[in-house]
Amino acid sequence: MAYFFIFLPLFIVALVATFEARLPRFTSPFKLSHFFTLIAFGLMGIALSAILPLTVQNFLIRLVAPFQILSIPQLPIPNWVGFILCFLLIDFANYWLHRLSHWVPALWRLHKIHHADKSVSAATNLLHHPAELFFGYLVMLTFFVLLGMPLLVIIVYGLANQIHGILVHSNINYPTKLNHWLKYLVFTPDAHRIHHSVDIVEGNSNFGQILPFWDVAFGTYQESAALPISQFEMGLSHPEQGVAFSIFGLLALPVFSSTNNQSENIIQVKDSSS
Ligand SMILES: [Zn+2]
Repeated sequence: MAYFFIFLPLFIVALVATFEARLPRFTSPFKLSHFFTLIAFGLMGIALSAILPLTVQNFLIRLVAPFQILSIPQLPIPNWVGFILCFLLIDFANYWLHRLSHWVPALWRLHKIHHADKSVSAATNLLHHPAELFFGYLVMLTFFVLLGMPLLVIIVYGLANQIHGILVHSNINYPTKLNHWLKYLVFTPDAHRIHHSVDIVEGNSNFGQILPFWDVAFGTYQESAALPISQFEMGLSHPEQGVAFSIFGLLALPVFSSTNNQSENIIQVKDSSS
């Protein structure tokens, strides 16, 4: 059963890929090497998610537990209110972790490989540097322990985030009405695609994981891209392009990339346009 959950992302990616092939939102040539690179990163992520609970998890919990500031299950609120509160708090933490990943130079070096994909699809959700996954795991586990998060919410959010993450990157031509109504509740592929724009200003928007409310509240929400989808370009911004889209090229990117964070790119773009 555990293996089913561990490999769930790959099953869903394969399922969504069949719809992407039949009903694409934009045309994108299929490259086998590109697809295998994404699957390889997916397998690395799966290996990490199997290894971390057996290695660092107990040690970190014991280390952080004395500093626990809250136990949400013990708050004088109904269980369902506590569940919703925890779900919102996890999504809120993910929003800031993602936003900081674009701002803090060391974190951007790790996160940028997720933005190196020029033809974003469901499988792009698998594209994360193992070091970024490890760092995110440490941060979120610390956050869970400090607030005494119930395990059930962590599991439900984790599952919802995996499924939503794959769908939000998918290249499927969803019905316009569905896109229109869903965008008020959750991030849709059209809205998240803006975050993958080569335009740095657009790339520094829509950081939310599942819910769009944090971006709206903190002024980073962008409803539509400047260019229509036929001209819309995805990937790293032009000063950072030229990355070899291979397993080793992407694994080495944090060490060999030239730019430290997206704010530096903004300065470069302003310089070149002035
Ligand atoms: Zn990002």
